[in-house]
Amino acid sequence: MTTYEAVIGLEVHAQLLTRTKLFCGCSAEYGAEPNTHVCPVCLGLPGALPVPNEKAIELAIRAGLALGCKVRTTSRFARKNYFYPDLSKNYQTSQYDEPIDEHGELVIEVDGVEKRIGITRAHLEEDAAKNVHGEGGGLHTVVDYNRAGTPLLEIVSEPDLRSAAEAEAYLKKLRDILMFIGVNDGNLEEGSFRCDANVSIRPVGQEEFGTRTELKNINSFKFVRKAIEYEIARQEAVVSSGGKIVQETRTWNEAQQKTVTMRSKEEAHDYRYFPCPDLPPIRVSEERIESIRASLPELPDAKRARYVEQLGLTPYDAGVLTGHPEIARFFEATLAALGDEKLGKKVANFIQSEVLRFVETRGLEATFPVKAEALAGLLALVEKGSINGKIAKQVFAEMVETGASAESIVESKGLAAVTDTAALEAEIQKVLDANPAQVEQYRGGKQAVFGFFVGQVMKATKGQADPKAVQEILRRLLG
Ligand code: ADP
Ligand code: MG
Ligand code: ZN
Repeated sequence: MTTYEAVIGLEVHAQLLTRTKLFCGCSAEYGAEPNTHVCPVCLGLPGALPVPNEKAIELAIRAGLALGCKVRTTSRFARKNYFYPDLSKNYQTSQYDEPIDEHGELVIEVDGVEKRIGITRAHLEEDAAKNVHGEGGGLHTVVDYNRAGTPLLEIVSEPDLRSAAEAEAYLKKLRDILMFIGVNDGNLEEGSFRCDANVSIRPVGQEEFGTRTELKNINSFKFVRKAIEYEIARQEAVVSSGGKIVQETRTWNEAQQKTVTMRSKEEAHDYRYFPCPDLPPIRVSEERIESIRASLPELPDAKRARYVEQLGLTPYDAGVLTGHPEIARFFEATLAALGDEKLGKKVANFIQSEVLRFVETRGLEATFPVKAEALAGLLALVEKGSINGKIAKQVFAEMVETGASAESIVESKGLAAVTDTAALEAEIQKVLDANPAQVEQYRGGKQAVFGFFVGQVMKATKGQADPKAVQEILRRLLG
């Protein structure tokens, strides 16, 4: 029996984080009322002329550099011609043989093994409008042109991936990098990070590639995996029973758990690409490229390594805190406000156990009422011994509710630790007096009773006593 191996290449469309569209001043914001962010340019009215968005070009260069690409000092927009209602000009302004970025790479890791995946190219193009089918229950289709003309970077991988797991690792890594360099928001559901997967199989040992199918519109990591796995198995079944793979575009049907045919695949020559006569070539100087390179922030891999080596976090913690750039920013800002790197582990723990619990249910940074500086204020109180860790969680919950500072909550609720040794000692003596039998047991050698006393004292002080001081005094009084 022949064994087959899969060959996969991915095309990712990442929406660039610009305020306005690629060739006009219309807002690129997602989710507005249909057809409100439109003008003659993005509606494709005859005679309207495009003006390239500088910011989009800069973001494309940024992404190229982060992906190890060579950035072309001269690149060109080209027209990709086809007819569809979501494309009012009958061509998409894209790039063809002179893309802005080429020859990059991404190193992925699957099961502890690193692998280099080539990036063929990354090019700028405009998004199409959005067809909305059956609005209000009819058979008709309406078009929302708000999305028409929003800037995309299409990132094309070499056919270097060999499994669904590798494809998933590549996508996660790519999304991670693009988010951390501020080029893309990584939102698969809103479609600002979309993936098409090209899949073929070949007998193991054969060099030549098999015929591929292209899986379109896969909008979650879970579906990417399932769709590719299904497609590999489907192709194996077809080929094993003597059939041939047809080059076509397929889509993942989640309800049926399978890929289904959308249309036969067009070839590049069908598009009649030619340089866009309305747009001059994009020229960028080597100096500009180098200055953008110098402005790149720390990439997620480097950040994780630094959290582990410099701050002493576990790789797991480092992974959680770099799960999203806003979490990493929040962590770093809190630590900076505390001004002591040695507190990295404590800050990390608090953010993971407390902050992320709230962020998950309430949404991210913009709406989160506790700022990094305010959290640092709370953790500083813990460090000073003004409150203990348990009270800190209680205060934090209050900060999230009311937005008040840790100091004012501790003050107004009288939560400050009982640090007055004389007062604490009196409390402890009271506990000992109330439990003469246990005191007897302890003095008779039953060490385990010690925990009972600590518990009683904490209860008597409503958890506000510093546990360390309690233990010291207890030892002395029981001594
Ligand atoms: P198109 O623009 O028509 O989709 P490209 O040649 O640009 O075609 O290739 C698109 C993607 O398909 C790339 O990611 C490439 O790596 C991948 N690819 C090309 N040939 C194969 C193949 N035989 N099997 C799997 N993937 C392939
Ligand atoms: Mg394609
Ligand atoms: Zn417009």
